[in-house]
Amino acid sequence: MSKIFISCALPYANGPCHLGHIRSTYLPADIYARYNRMIDNDVLLVCATDEHGTPIAVKADKENKKPIEIAKRYHDMIVRDVESMNISLDNFTRTTDDLHYEIAQNFFLELYNKGLIYKKDIQQLYCEKCNKFLPDRYVEGICPVCGSEARGDHCEKCGRALEPTELDEPKCLTCGSTPVIKDSYQYFFKLSEFEDDLKDYIDNNENLPANVKNYAKNWLKEGLNDWVLTRDMDWGIPLPLDEAKGKVLYVWVEAFLGYISSAAQWSRETGIKWEDYWNDTAIHFIGKDIIYHHSIFWPGLLKAYGCKLPDNIYAGEFLSLEGEKMSTSKNWVVWIADFVDKFDPDLLRYYLTINAPLNKDTDFSWDDFQRRNNDELADVIGNFLHRTFTFTHKFFDGEIPEYKNPSAEDNKFKEIIEKLPDTVGEYISDFEFRDGLLEIYRVAKIGNKYFNDQEPWKAVKEDMQKAANCLYLSNQLAKTL
Ligand SMILES: [Zn+2]
Ligand SMILES: [Zn+2]
Repeated sequence: MSKIFISCALPYANGPCHLGHIRSTYLPADIYARYNRMIDNDVLLVCATDEHGTPIAVKADKENKKPIEIAKRYHDMIVRDVESMNISLDNFTRTTDDLHYEIAQNFFLELYNKGLIYKKDIQQLYCEKCNKFLPDRYVEGICPVCGSEARGDHCEKCGRALEPTELDEPKCLTCGSTPVIKDSYQYFFKLSEFEDDLKDYIDNNENLPANVKNYAKNWLKEGLNDWVLTRDMDWGIPLPLDEAKGKVLYVWVEAFLGYISSAAQWSRETGIKWEDYWNDTAIHFIGKDIIYHHSIFWPGLLKAYGCKLPDNIYAGEFLSLEGEKMSTSKNWVVWIADFVDKFDPDLLRYYLTINAPLNKDTDFSWDDFQRRNNDELADVIGNFLHRTFTFTHKFFDGEIPEYKNPSAEDNKFKEIIEKLPDTVGEYISDFEFRDGLLEIYRVAKIGNKYFNDQEPWKAVKEDMQKAANCLYLSNQLAKTL
């Protein structure tokens, strides 16, 4: 029996969940966790809401509320969304939890005391009207690479990670004025010292899927700069140093530790050591937009701390909606709460899984959703189950009939049924969830053909045992499916 630590990427608490969140992260993590529990592995599936950072602080400013109020509102919605999709989390916490603060501050101190963190002056944007520094998304401007409108930390158009000082025509998001450049010191992590370790981790870890390896290798080729760990702002985890008043940990640094603090909270409640799971097998499910952070920064931090690195990082590719990129700001999304208001969550789980492999971009379209629901779930799988149960009730009083003197066709069909769990299980173990589901669909089709060929509606009049064998095996397949 293995112990498996599984995490879903932390949803950012400034909006509810939409289809993209479910497809890239929560659903695959849940499939993998449920399968491993079925084969008697011991699974710990954790997640948390990521509640610091500038987007929440900006939203709070706009609504004249405290950041914690914004975070709580969306934390509650996200919990509801994840539960409504039957994601079988063992623990779901928040990065504003006390235990998370304690773990994050101790983690920083450990690296600081090892001499892996240093102070350096850097140029930063400062708004003289608001009297504050403008980290990350406190500033908007023009992307220096592609010329599109971009936020201080990221250009959505070309995908480039940015520093606010790189933006052309920067504007303070709060008051719209043009910021000035000021020096301020920040704390840096000596990431560059771990370049060789990270190369070794990426090159020699056979588990890592191709998309993660390729992204990471491209970044490693450019060489690693040291990473700035802190920000000048109020909303965040304060640095545990007397000298560093007004500085907080950069949200990305501590968000990773949400995996750990969620597991640690679970340990407090259950009395079971989470470390045993991490040290056996640790797997992160993430979206592809955060491969950089998970393949470079996070293993770098763990290595520095002296901790085992994750065994696998599985990155789901993007989901578009009706052929267009999803965008929460343009409201081009389907929210989970709206979906489950109209449909059973299993229909969505089926559709998102069978539509494309996780490592390929895919599209959600309502026509295609309807087609797969009607042609596949209803006409093939549903039809098979319906016929099986109806006949069993009608001709065998709802009892599974006895299986005797099987024909060659019966034996062949029985073999197919018996092979199905192993075949599907191998696919799931290899993260090929779509292939696993296609196999289930394929065998349901074989089930329908077998049922048609055996004609139990005729056989009940001529050869009762033939009908009995057909219904016995059909019920076995129903259970196996
Ligand atoms: Zn750009
Ligand atoms: Zn301002």
